[in-house]
Amino acid sequence: METINLVWFKKDLRTFDNEALNEALKTENVIPIFVIEPDLWKLPDHSSRQWEFVRECLIDLNNSLNDIGLKLIIRVGNIEDVIKEFTERFHVKGIYSHEETGNEWTFKRDQDLRRFTKNENIHWYEYRQFGVFRGLKTRKNWSRKWEQHMSQELINDPRRVNYFIDIPSHNLPSSKSLKLNLDKCSHRIQGGRKQGLNKLYEFLKYKIDNYQYSLSSPLKAFDGCSRLSPYLTWGCLSVREVVQTIRRTKKRGSRAINSRLHWHCHFIQKLESEPELESREYHPYMSGIRKSNQIFLKAWSQGLTGIPFIDACMRSLNSHGWINFRMRAMLMSFASYQLWLPWQESGLCLARKFIDYEPGIHWTQCQMQSGTTSINTMRIYNPIKQGYDHDPEGIFIRTWVKELQYLPSKFIHAPWKIDLFHQDDSSLVLGKNYPFPIVDPIISTNTARAKLKEIRNKPGFFDIANNILEKHSSRKRRKSKLKKKQNNPVLHKQLTLKL
Ligand SMILES: Cc1cc2nc3c(=O)[nH]c(=O)nc-3n(C[C@H](O)[C@H](O)[C@H](O)COP(=O)(O)OP(=O)(O)OC[C@H]3O[C@@H](n4cnc5c(N)ncnc54)[C@H](O)[C@@H]3O)c2cc1C
Repeated sequence: METINLVWFKKDLRTFDNEALNEALKTENVIPIFVIEPDLWKLPDHSSRQWEFVRECLIDLNNSLNDIGLKLIIRVGNIEDVIKEFTERFHVKGIYSHEETGNEWTFKRDQDLRRFTKNENIHWYEYRQFGVFRGLKTRKNWSRKWEQHMSQELINDPRRVNYFIDIPSHNLPSSKSLKLNLDKCSHRIQGGRKQGLNKLYEFLKYKIDNYQYSLSSPLKAFDGCSRLSPYLTWGCLSVREVVQTIRRTKKRGSRAINSRLHWHCHFIQKLESEPELESREYHPYMSGIRKSNQIFLKAWSQGLTGIPFIDACMRSLNSHGWINFRMRAMLMSFASYQLWLPWQESGLCLARKFIDYEPGIHWTQCQMQSGTTSINTMRIYNPIKQGYDHDPEGIFIRTWVKELQYLPSKFIHAPWKIDLFHQDDSSLVLGKNYPFPIVDPIISTNTARAKLKEIRNKPGFFDIANNILEKHSSRKRRKSKLKKKQNNPVLHKQLTLKL
């Protein structure tokens, strides 16, 4: 029997700076595999738009592998069955892959596979993909470790090997044959390393100088942000190569994007250290405080809340599979505070919409924007104020909420204030072609605020919060212990707009 190594591609869809591939090639001939796991893809945090993106990444990956004389073998099924298939024909000496900080399902799958490979006497070698560290007991020195990882020399594409194995690969299934609900995402960006590199170079050439000034408004962010997130999530680019390329550039904006790449790993580290955070609140007092409401959830998810800036952002996200950080935060905040929906439900809905869905970042951000971490400043965004700040003339709103396109700017952020005189010209009939607001934004904000205040006043709240801070926060922040704050200024600022 021929001895081979299997390289199991997961969310590392590249040949460049791929330690697993590089190490596997050092000892034996290599068969690269990608396993499409239907049980994973049918989970509610996955979607057809993500699959279509991954499909493009896999075509591109196969081309890169062909360039070095290898062929990607696609299988639809579960990883253990796929390994068994190969052990019938080969002596599988090792399985090589990158560490994954995924959702609960992938976590369990990897635990099962660890047992399986042990029983089968196959070595499973896992390599670090991000600046995220397994089995970390403390955050002490985390930044130094991150820095070390990011400064390591990049691993070049392997030299040509010519090991085209005569095993047929399965075709890449369509979303339909994977039985995924089709969700139209007409403005989605294309997957693949080539596309990712184009985005990186375009960013460095044209955007990085003004990066910091383009982050907040959805009018500027689509062209001003790097848009690298899906390529990092699916590993078409390695975080390390992006960090090093940006550092070499030394342009205005380099520091700002570097710190965001640092956050990328900082957030994933939280889920790596405490996988339960995908579904369980950081702070136990925040557990189960919100109520499901399918009518609110549906209206929010479809961009039909009657709050124009919220609806415009959601419809834009539905169509692009991406929106900028601040608008993600506002959408989540609106669902969690004004609509008082459980973050797990609205978070799942957003996860499906994001092409860049990265569980470690996503779930910690969902909790942060819902006030359940207890260690971050609680921000209740006022969506009308956000609209005035970031889309003063209502250009973004008119693009995505066509029902409001003839509305005078004066009413664009609060159409329910329209008078009869203007109503005729605007072709708006509230309640007919655009909904009345499903909640009063100010009353619902105040109600949420009062509920949270009550919880934070419970005995022992801040003792628990300090333990959470000890575990999850960076050393710098931890110096100041959390105290009960009166009149939180940020919270107040978000509410200053009088309706
Ligand atoms: C509720 C919510 C959910 C989110 N879910 C995800 C997610 O599933 N996947 C994801 O990649 N990002 C997520 N983010 C973080 C952030 O919004 C996106 O990373 C960013 O908008 C991606 O666009 P970009 O690549 O143009 O970012 P840029 O601003 O160009 O930043 C470059 C890279 O830095 C990292 N980054 C930027 N901002 C953050 C941040 N706040 N936290 C962590 N890393 C960051 C990303 O990898 C990003 O690609 C979420 C934010 C919120 C508020």
